[in-house]
Amino acid sequence: MIPSDPSKVTAICFDRIHLPGQATLEVARKNGAYSYLPTVLNEMNREQIIEQVKISGLRGRGGAGFPTGLKWSFVPRNTGKPTYLLCNADEGEPGTFKDRDIMRFDPHLLIEGMIMAGFALGVHDAYIYIRGEFLHEANVMNAAIKEAYAANLLGEHILGTDFSMHLTVHRGAGAYVCGEETALIESLEGRPGRPRFKPPFPAVEGFYRCPTVVNNVETLATIPAILEHGGQWHKQIGVPNSAGMKIFSVSGHVNKPGNYEVPMGMPLRVLVEEYCGGLQHGDVPKAVIPGGSSTPWLGPEHYDVPLAYDEIHKAGSMLGSGAVIIMDETADVVALTRRLSHFYAHESCGQCTPCREGTGWLERVMLRLEAGGCNARDIEVLQDASEHMAGRTICALADGAAAPILSLLRMFPDEVNSYLAENKA
Ligand code: SF4
Repeated sequence: MIPSDPSKVTAICFDRIHLPGQATLEVARKNGAYSYLPTVLNEMNREQIIEQVKISGLRGRGGAGFPTGLKWSFVPRNTGKPTYLLCNADEGEPGTFKDRDIMRFDPHLLIEGMIMAGFALGVHDAYIYIRGEFLHEANVMNAAIKEAYAANLLGEHILGTDFSMHLTVHRGAGAYVCGEETALIESLEGRPGRPRFKPPFPAVEGFYRCPTVVNNVETLATIPAILEHGGQWHKQIGVPNSAGMKIFSVSGHVNKPGNYEVPMGMPLRVLVEEYCGGLQHGDVPKAVIPGGSSTPWLGPEHYDVPLAYDEIHKAGSMLGSGAVIIMDETADVVALTRRLSHFYAHESCGQCTPCREGTGWLERVMLRLEAGGCNARDIEVLQDASEHMAGRTICALADGAAAPILSLLRMFPDEVNSYLAENKA
């Protein structure tokens, strides 16, 4: 069980994930799942719940880091339209692999969080939009939802109260851009998953043009602990402006890659050396992608940076989804960047010219660079095209595509130059 003393908390979302059989309702309930739900439904009102989430300092764990309670408070009331809750389980950012573990091993934690969120927001219909490739996780979620319906934890008059909520799993088709909330909504409505212009924001005009809240899996899975222990309890974990625990998906050149839930603000070096078994080669990383492939790279001088929103921002990057990709001294940064450029060119939805054309250009030049067919002028094109893509499109995919290129050119000019045709000869 999660300790009520915030200084003793070692996990929130992963607290019960390792317990055998936790995906079944019987075991999950024995281990405490849904135990606080009757109190929330019978003794708390909408304002009190939103207030506790605001106090908690919880920020969206999907990538943007927007304060969850504030997002919920934007939802207008008495519009005459239904309000929808959508769980973003698309998890397509390269390097991110945390949400699938919550769904696979503790699906009832997510369901419980969604019931509580749905109650706070006045939702009758909620959806989990899950990445198409996550067939196993979708099956686990559907089995857990079926059990929850049978136990009157979902459906009409939940646990004998006036609150009713239905929950449906919808599998996407594997498009990265559907992790963007408005593309997710388009896809859920049955159209191609292409991002919408904002405003209007989904809280006002989202699913079927109705008020809609889109929250990440980890965000929603944190709600039961916040309501049981209080917003202040959660706020005391972590560091100012980055409260709570966070799951970091660590991959790359570490000895023990994997998911680690740690307090916000833990120095990167501690995460790597005390949790991930250290670097495979060398004493400091050659480069680190701190928040998924779309975030700018950090260098060895940032090895002690606290893993928190403001601190990572000050270092020149973003915490993103918490996908930490470590490159040690053996990393071929040109090859890595070329692979990422292929990913973004493939995933561009094509609506915006700078992204549609720019991602293709970046990939083609990176392919030529790696093959030794570029000259110095091509490097100028890479720089210029990347700078002109970022910030000029409907969604942030173009910025994400530019980030690895700009990082490579900024941090490793000598390695880039060594690939040029004149230096290859
Ligand atoms: Fe589509 Fe790219 Fe424009 Fe995003 S930036 S809407 S992915 S074309």
